[in-house]
Amino acid sequence: MSRSPVWHPFHQHGLHEDIPLVTHADGAVLHTADGRRVIDAISSWWVTTHGHNHPRIMAAVREQTEKLDQLIFAGWTHEPAETLARALVDLMPDGLDHVFYSDSGSTAVEVALKMALGYWHNRGEPRHRILVLEHSYHGDTIGAMSVGARGVFNCAYAPLLFDVGTVPFPAAEPQLSLEALESACRASDVAAFIVEPLLLGAGGMLTYPPDVLTEMRAICARHGVLFIADEVMTGWGRTGTLLACEQAGVTPDILCLAKGLTGGSMPLAVTMATAPIFDAHYSADRSKLFFHSSSFTANPIACAAAVANVQMWQDEPVLKRIATLAERLGAVLENLSSRPDVVNPRQCGTMIAFDVDVGVDTGYLAEIGPRMRAHFFANDVLIRPLGNTVYAMPPYSISQADIDTVEQVMASAIDTCASQP
Ligand SMILES: *Cc1c(COP(=O)(O)O)cnc(C)c1O
Repeated sequence: MSRSPVWHPFHQHGLHEDIPLVTHADGAVLHTADGRRVIDAISSWWVTTHGHNHPRIMAAVREQTEKLDQLIFAGWTHEPAETLARALVDLMPDGLDHVFYSDSGSTAVEVALKMALGYWHNRGEPRHRILVLEHSYHGDTIGAMSVGARGVFNCAYAPLLFDVGTVPFPAAEPQLSLEALESACRASDVAAFIVEPLLLGAGGMLTYPPDVLTEMRAICARHGVLFIADEVMTGWGRTGTLLACEQAGVTPDILCLAKGLTGGSMPLAVTMATAPIFDAHYSADRSKLFFHSSSFTANPIACAAAVANVQMWQDEPVLKRIATLAERLGAVLENLSSRPDVVNPRQCGTMIAFDVDVGVDTGYLAEIGPRMRAHFFANDVLIRPLGNTVYAMPPYSISQADIDTVEQVMASAIDTCASQP
């Protein structure tokens, strides 16, 4: 077969690693063209919540394909977008009354930043500075990269990234980071603070306690700084509750959702906003409208998939499933934590993570990462370590037998890979 013209994301083609071809999937399992059954222990990069090819979501998609495929969304509307927006306003914290559609987590973040700046601009009080949390990840477009951690991922583009204020990650001494946030918020040009609530994903599956989030929100409120919650990964039950913000009793000014919005089946995102943000753009003056759109904004088929997801949240015991999974994953983490080479075990809902102690310094490019990834793949488990950080966040429907396999292969991955230099 001739070489594939496909250029893969976050993939070094020069290493000539195997690229499996997946033909179908169900639940937590991927099936490859060469007959392998692979456990998707990271929900296909954190998107699949209820499981692959969920019958309710697939049925909604099929039904919608009979009616309307795509529609301009500037000044036009359709049933799935209306139904979904109303359902989201009902389901999400009170006050997030406006729903803006886009198509990925990165664009949901871009939209959030533009909403925040538009809010200040239209009030005649221009503020442009964005505050971020150390080690954050908010996506790979230029604006989203600007508000994320700088490193090997984006050094080639650094000159194009805008300057932000960085608040230290609330690790051992959360008070220091709260003080830094408070002092940064005092500057008169701060428009917004953007944060991944409770769990920082790409930054290394780092967790911090809900009371710190509560306090961060209060500080922003005191200084009139808009609070943007990026729940692209944490939303839809990943942290044990529908939103991570819930555990901190926090209502953001702006909320970003994507990944699990459609149960992880279709690309769709929303940025939800409170009335003051919408109202700042509401006017008879066309220059005050919100200047953002993309071709596939609120694609009807994707919206139909999201409506099915929301309905599952409304009439199925999703939180109970999540609690059961969290308990089972907790047991896995506990077993592995008894090993001396497993350090910093952490869990947030249906995400467990730990670092493999390899004695040397690490980071994303640590050699042990790809070595373990190859070991997982060789053993029919999809897990992509972040450097020496190994984590799992499977679909909620994963079976106990598959969880057991994941645990065994995690243990053998450490045995096989940690000992090599
Ligand atoms: C994945 C992710 C994004 C980006 O979402 P895409 O759909 O990949 O663009 C943004 N924020 C967080 C917290 C994420 O985990």
